[in-house]
Amino acid sequence: MTMDMGDPRAERLEMVQRQIVARGITDPLVVSAMRTVPRHEFVPEELRDLAYDDRPLPIGRGQTISQPYIVALMTELAELKGEESVLEVGTGSGYQAAVLAEIAARVYTIELVEPLLRAAAATLVRLHYRNVFPRLGDGSLGWKEMAPFDAILVTAAAARRIPKELLDQLADGGRLVAPVGGEVQTLSVVRRRGKAFERRDVTAVRFVPLLGAAE
Ligand code: SAH
Repeated sequence: MTMDMGDPRAERLEMVQRQIVARGITDPLVVSAMRTVPRHEFVPEELRDLAYDDRPLPIGRGQTISQPYIVALMTELAELKGEESVLEVGTGSGYQAAVLAEIAARVYTIELVEPLLRAAAATLVRLHYRNVFPRLGDGSLGWKEMAPFDAILVTAAAARRIPKELLDQLADGGRLVAPVGGEVQTLSVVRRRGKAFERRDVTAVRFVPLLGAAE
């Protein structure tokens, strides 16, 4: 396969087949969202020919856009149907927010690093994602004014435990998907049932560290 950006859509469809469907992502809404969002628009210009590769890519400031499969997996674990209000912690490039926005009603996303937030917000506006609400700030504390959330995705790893502030902002029945750990991290899903929180560990992952007050 040639890797020049002659036909990003063809590359994207092939990426979804080989990296997403072949590895067991079955939710049709997730597969469709991954086929729709132009990942190459969210990576730095000089890396566009790598946009559909099976890997994370640097987006500046020591941060990365996650591997496509991990974006799809986290989205599937959020169990979205269409009416949800979702919080993302760690906007980065804005790509995961766009994938979520293809499915959910509203996506609130918080980023700590100002230049990244600005670039992501500009990309999301350019691509007409009107249901994504990006904000500069410390997402480890959540976004209290907009809570509760039906789903929360944390795209940076909490070293020891998921911040209590985030669990508090989860709606009853809601799902929180987050990597937890230092060197070795586990992608975990927490489901809220009233006052109880049921945690399930899914797979080993590697994310940049979550910073901020709750850490
Ligand atoms: N979801 C992103 C990838 C995120 S990489 C994408 O689709 O491209 C993790 C991001 O989390 C980085 O941009 C980092 O700056 C940000 N981050 C780390 N700690 C944070 C915090 N406490 N609040 C908000 N963002 C944070």
